[in-house]
Amino acid sequence: MEIKADALVLRTADYGESDKMLTLFTLQYGKISAAAKGVRKAGAKLRFAAQPFCFAEYVLAKRGERYTMISAANTDGFYALRENIDKFYAAAALVGICDALLYDGIVNEELFLYAVNALRGMCEGDEAEELITFFLKALELSGYMLDLTACAECGAVLEGKAFFDIAGGCFTCPDCAKGAGVSESTLEVLKKCAGKPYRAAPVSADGKRRALKLLNAYFRAKTDAEVKALDEYIAMLSAGE
Ligand SMILES: [Zn+2]
Repeated sequence: MEIKADALVLRTADYGESDKMLTLFTLQYGKISAAAKGVRKAGAKLRFAAQPFCFAEYVLAKRGERYTMISAANTDGFYALRENIDKFYAAAALVGICDALLYDGIVNEELFLYAVNALRGMCEGDEAEELITFFLKALELSGYMLDLTACAECGAVLEGKAFFDIAGGCFTCPDCAKGAGVSESTLEVLKKCAGKPYRAAPVSADGKRRALKLLNAYFRAKTDAEVKALDEYIAMLSAGE
C-alpha cells in the first residue's frame, strides 16, 4: 500500500551503507519512522528529503507497520536555516520539542501547522522569538498553558519583577513570591511572544535567553524530556552576549 503525507523531518539516523531512517512528523498520520534508501549516495535525487527540517510531500510504501520512502516533492526546504548557525540551532530545538511531545501515530494538526509557520518565521525574522512563541503554543496544546498576565495567588496584574513556580507552572507577584525570581525582561519577552500586551523597552537578548531557560525548565519538569538542541541553543545565546 502507498500513502501520501505532508511531513516535516524531525530527526535522521544513518544506517546501512547509504541509507537513513527518518523520523517524520506528518500532518495526516502523526509521528512515524520511514526508511530512506540510498539517500547518502553522492547525487541521490531524494537527498534533500532526508535532511533535518525538510518539509515535503512524501510518498511512502507501507508494509505492516514499516514505511519506506518512494518519492518526495519539496514544499519548503527552509534553506535560510541551514546558512546561519543560530537559526539552524533554533530550528533544531523546535523539531526536538516536537519529537519530545509527540507519541508515534498520534495526529496533531495544530502543532504541525505551528511548527511549519515558526520555521518559516525563523527564516526571515528573529529565531529566538519564533522559538519562544512556538514553545508557548506547544506547551498550551499539551495542557501546560502559562498565565502571564495575572498573579496566580492574588490576581494582581504581573509587571516588573515576578516569580515563577516550576512545579505549579504559575507566575506570582512580588508580594506572593512563590518560586524563583523572574526578571522584568523575561516576563515582557514571554508576553510579547504569547501575543499579549507588553512593554518593548525591557525586551532584550538576555530576556529571550532567560525566557527559553524558564520554558525549558518547565517543559522538563512536566515531560521529563530533554531536548539536547535546545540546551545547545541556550548555551549559544549565553556565549553570544
Ligand atoms: Zn500576588
